[in-house]
Amino acid sequence: MKMTDQLVLIIHVITAAIPLTFFIIALDKYQAPGMKYFAYLSFCVFIFNLGYLVELSATNENGAFLGTQIKYIGVPFIGLSIFLFILDYCGKKPKKPVVYLCMALPVIHSLLGITSPWHDFYYKSFFFLANETVANLIKEPTIVYYLLYIYSFGIALAGVVVAFFAYKNGVLWRKKQLILLVIAAAIPGAASAVSIFTRDRMSFDISAIMLSLTCSVIAYLFIQQNLFKIAPIAREQIIEKMKDAFVLVDMNGHYADANNAAKSLLPQLKLISPGSKIDLIDKILGEGRNTLEVPDTAGVPRYYSISKTVISHNSKEIGICYMFFDITESKLFLDEVSEQADRDSLTGIYNRGAFFKRANPVFHKMLRVQTSSAVLMMDLDNFKILNDTYGHQTGDLVLRRFAQELSTHFREADIFARYGGEEFCAVLYNVGENKIKAIANRLCEVIRNTQWWDKQPQLSVTVSIGAAIYDPAIHKTLEDMIASADEALYKAKNTGRNRVCLSSEP
Ligand code: GH3
Ligand code: MG
Ligand code: MG
Repeated sequence: MKMTDQLVLIIHVITAAIPLTFFIIALDKYQAPGMKYFAYLSFCVFIFNLGYLVELSATNENGAFLGTQIKYIGVPFIGLSIFLFILDYCGKKPKKPVVYLCMALPVIHSLLGITSPWHDFYYKSFFFLANETVANLIKEPTIVYYLLYIYSFGIALAGVVVAFFAYKNGVLWRKKQLILLVIAAAIPGAASAVSIFTRDRMSFDISAIMLSLTCSVIAYLFIQQNLFKIAPIAREQIIEKMKDAFVLVDMNGHYADANNAAKSLLPQLKLISPGSKIDLIDKILGEGRNTLEVPDTAGVPRYYSISKTVISHNSKEIGICYMFFDITESKLFLDEVSEQADRDSLTGIYNRGAFFKRANPVFHKMLRVQTSSAVLMMDLDNFKILNDTYGHQTGDLVLRRFAQELSTHFREADIFARYGGEEFCAVLYNVGENKIKAIANRLCEVIRNTQWWDKQPQLSVTVSIGAAIYDPAIHKTLEDMIASADEALYKAKNTGRNRVCLSSEP
């Protein structure tokens, strides 16, 4: 045997050992995703390479035929294994009948190949060539041979299509994964094409070496892409399927990844590819912002709370993960609860607590802007008598109507509230000093002239109003203004009720 022949044999021993090693490792980790089909693939490639080794080292025609027969136990299932592996890797579970259907042709292929020495459906003719070079069985294939191989490569390419769509839909989120899968699936077809064209020039078929390479590429995928672990896959799928949006950028603001929820929340993300700079996050978030309001397809606003997590690796900050949690439901509920908590249950206008919550910021604005504004305190006259005469229910009715009537006389910017019992208060912001008394008098008049109840036309209600006009010398707090208004109200009561008094009047 020549040196080069020995080298070819040694290479093929290694070529058979590689998939066998992968097969043993894969059996050990059989439960991990994709591993089952990697085990099938490695086994088929090992059988093919073993058969080819037997063929190459044969000393007679029978030995070479035995090698060919061994090859056909494995080779028809290689394309199918690659296809099933990619499906599994991309998280797709084919139904059992579909798998069996896909297996039908490879089984026929295998049987025809194994029995090929005894019929001519598969090879038209063959002759043994053992001089000068390593042993080789030269065969002339039939159309059946080509059709069965086309199926085998076709199904591997179908795997590429599956991988491509998985990448498009974000299941495989690293481009490298897609590229490696495409390479792994394309190698067997490419190897066969090369071996057909180099048949006359090469002393051996390179398919065995190339198929070992396919197994090695997939093994690399497992190792490099952490495929041995279930957790990363589970994490990816959960991130993809959750309704909260997830956006990942590196420390320089380059877009790295986003899930489907993020792409529908921020459709701009669909237009940019990983690696490109996005100021989008800064733009929409602004510094220190932690909520976001985005209209949905129907234009109804939805609310998101934003959390920002810095991702570190080897104590170096490498990226920022933004999570957008949809809080619309809870926000609307809280708004409603808080609105209800602010309302007086009898009259529906703001209660005392809500009055202070809203009036305090307005007062601070008064301090800053020094504009003419006022606080009114209103107290229904002789309400005890009204209650005693017409009953408490009528009293309630009057309180409700009172609030309704006056509400229509205030502006949007004014704050009108029930201070307690039959006392009401209001803050009038930015009203000319000379107008305040007129406004209060008008309110008095409205109440005096209201027809309260058809059944009791004689029922008359009046209100006394004390008004405090903002005076920077006296009013340091909102309470100071309320105290002034109270004093003025006291004056109004003492000077005959049903009237307005200003705190500034003597
Ligand atoms: P004045 O003109 O001096 O204000 O006399 P008044 O009778 O209105 O004042 P007083 O403080 O003596 O009485 C207030 C009354 O208002 C007593 C209380 O029963 C009644 N009142 C307070 N809250 C309510 C309520 O929610 N519903 C009803 N019906 N009456 C209420
Ligand atoms: Mg009172
Ligand atoms: Mg009263």
